Amino acid sequence: MADTSKLHIAVVGGGPGGYAAAFLASDLGMKVTLIDPEVNPGGVCLYRGCIPSKALLHVAKLIEESHQAKNWGIEFADPKIDLSKLRSWKESVVKKLTGGLGQLSKQRSVQYVQGTAGFQNSNSLKVKKTSGGEEIMAFDKIILATGSRPAVIPSLKIDSARMLDSTGALDIKDIPKTLLVVGGGYIGLELGSVYAALGTRVSVVEMTGGLLPGADRDLVLPLHKKLEKAFEAILLNTTVASLKEEKNGIRATFEGKDVKEREKVYDKVLVSVGRKPNSEIEGLDKTKVKVGQRGFIQVNNQLQTDDPAIFAIGDLVGEPMLAHKASHEGRTAVEVIAGHKYTFEPSAIPAVVFTDPEIAWAGLTETQAQKEGREVKVAKFPWGASGRAITLDRTDGMTKLLIDPGTERVLGVGIVGPGAGELIAEGVLAIEMAALAGDLELTIHPHPTLSETIMEAAEVFYGTSTDVYRPKRA
Ligand SMILES: Cc1cc2nc3c(=O)[nH]c(=O)nc-3n(C[C@H](O)[C@H](O)[C@H](O)COP(=O)(O)OP(=O)(O)OC[C@H]3O[C@@H](n4cnc5c(N)ncnc54)[C@H](O)[C@@H]3O)c2cc1C
Repeated sequence: MADTSKLHIAVVGGGPGGYAAAFLASDLGMKVTLIDPEVNPGGVCLYRGCIPSKALLHVAKLIEESHQAKNWGIEFADPKIDLSKLRSWKESVVKKLTGGLGQLSKQRSVQYVQGTAGFQNSNSLKVKKTSGGEEIMAFDKIILATGSRPAVIPSLKIDSARMLDSTGALDIKDIPKTLLVVGGGYIGLELGSVYAALGTRVSVVEMTGGLLPGADRDLVLPLHKKLEKAFEAILLNTTVASLKEEKNGIRATFEGKDVKEREKVYDKVLVSVGRKPNSEIEGLDKTKVKVGQRGFIQVNNQLQTDDPAIFAIGDLVGEPMLAHKASHEGRTAVEVIAGHKYTFEPSAIPAVVFTDPEIAWAGLTETQAQKEGREVKVAKFPWGASGRAITLDRTDGMTKLLIDPGTERVLGVGIVGPGAGELIAEGVLAIEMAALAGDLELTIHPHPTLSETIMEAAEVFYGTSTDVYRPKRA
């Protein structure tokens, strides 16, 4: 093992990519400096992304289930919402986690510098400290993990308190009567679901022909049906041509082949049309780092940039812009710096949409297989045949496997239904371990659980599912 104790590395950006890298580097014996403007590590994910959104979605789910309970003989009164208490609860979740990361930094003797870093040259950074003043610091290696920010559409940019991006939406300053969500991707649908549960009439506008472009349509369908009831409108094949502030709201005009109402006024508008990498780092031009198309920093599969002293990870280097991808890349970069033989070559990076129902997939999707003309066998297990789903009154789910017809290897897993985000981990493991459908079929799953749907989907592949009867052909 290489002697890492003499290496001093800097990690710029304290998100899930940055802090995972910094902590591992310290565990491997390196001297580590972690630089981020926030008081503690956490980045977008903990301060204004994954964590606050999931805390609010938990509340949304509770409200939704309280309505559903009517079907089971229990009627709750409409919820009274104390917005400031809800906000403080969400903030306490963020504080607990980010404070914990601050503690972990101290325990590992990671030098945490609150500030913003730019380059002097490939091996030294100029750090503008939040407390004031600047410091020039030299390092053996630097890992860039500056993440991303919400993308803006210049023609729709208006200076108004009624306009929100994901960060503003998570602040839940108030519960608007109406909200237009521009963009039918996962962030827009998650935040739209929160506001709808709190009582806002939500409309979502998406320029393509379906919500969650890129996800398999059969997974999206149950969510679409549910959101049609929860939302006031889902406007597909529609673009927002203009936004204009008026006395009572923002007037949006729409264009597109399916448009019925050309314009409408909304209390607030949330623009969630993707994210842009934070690659405009001061002094980056003094290094050999190359920035590619769409602003992503170019790296190889060891997360090395074109500059031998500089690595880059996370949202800054490309899709999928997800926290777990960022942290695995961060850990890979550190292993490479430590001289270990490591590459970032996952067989599957799971994607989860935390709506109700949740949607999750890993590995090959059916959409991708069709696009590539790749032959696959698809085995689907409908949750209507799952005992656990019936006890939860959630038979709208489905689990499917994409299987290589020759080797019977599991190439992809897709799940829609409550808890899909937890269940997909088994699919990821199956793909990473090159499991065959038979491995899933022969693995005893606990009863009654939704995890059985993965085993039973494998049984469907063999035509032997206990709970799905397929009449034999004459
Ligand atoms: C609303 C929302 C919900 C999301 N939900 C999920 C989810 O459920 N699951 C999931 O996997 N992903 C989710 N994401 C995406 C996830 O937040 C990102 O993929 C993840 O945070 C990327 O991690 P990162 O380490 O690359 O960078 P970030 O988390 O973006 O952190 C980068 C940090 O670097 C700092 N920084 C920037 N420039 C400098 C500089 N020059 N010097 C010092 N510091 C700098 C930034 O201030 C920031 O703190 C969500 C995002 C949003 C917006």
